[in-house]
Amino acid sequence: MPETSGLVEPLEPLPQTGEDHSLWRGEVHVTTVATLYKKIRFYTRENLGAGDIHLPPEELDTEAFVLTLSEASAAELGLAGGDRGSAWRAVGSLLRRVAPLFVRCQPADLGLSSHVRSPHFGCPALFLYDRVQGGVGLSELLFRGQRELLNAALEVVERCDCEAGCPACVGPREEVGPLGKETARRLLEHLSRGVLPTDVPVAAQDDAPVEAPA
Ligand SMILES: [Zn+2]
Repeated sequence: MPETSGLVEPLEPLPQTGEDHSLWRGEVHVTTVATLYKKIRFYTRENLGAGDIHLPPEELDTEAFVLTLSEASAAELGLAGGDRGSAWRAVGSLLRRVAPLFVRCQPADLGLSSHVRSPHFGCPALFLYDRVQGGVGLSELLFRGQRELLNAALEVVERCDCEAGCPACVGPREEVGPLGKETARRLLEHLSRGVLPTDVPVAAQDDAPVEAPA
């Protein structure tokens, strides 16, 4: 079982529509590199260890639903310190888990790339991308249903009885860190209450690519 890390470069940057955070969609190039394999026992799925592998990267040109958050808000909401990457990824994993309910796809149809400091935007960014070459419109459906998507993710965290994360919400504590669930809850609360830039027509954005702020 390969462990993958996705790297997404927006090919068509769209306007930043909010100072605090922005939600949009765009064309992206995804490079997935398998760096590790896990040895798992048949039937019990017991973890028997891991090893390095060297494979050529998988390239994908597709469309993504993108969420960026300003550095200032990220720090204010507790996305800081050594666990910040895990907590941010927890938000992404949760969005990816609830998204198929809204766009009626298989969980495997959507990929996630999480950057705690995106080289492109210079701030935390999440990319939920269509795993079919060229995209089949999933990013547009996610863009249109963004408020419902964020609310549903928040509801999952709030309703889960676990203390610090479990596979049913943000992921196990070992993956998201001791403060991962609390940070993810705070981030989602902030994002789902914020003013969402839905009044910017997608078609107009597509026609007018501009340089994203450095
Ligand atoms: Zn939980």
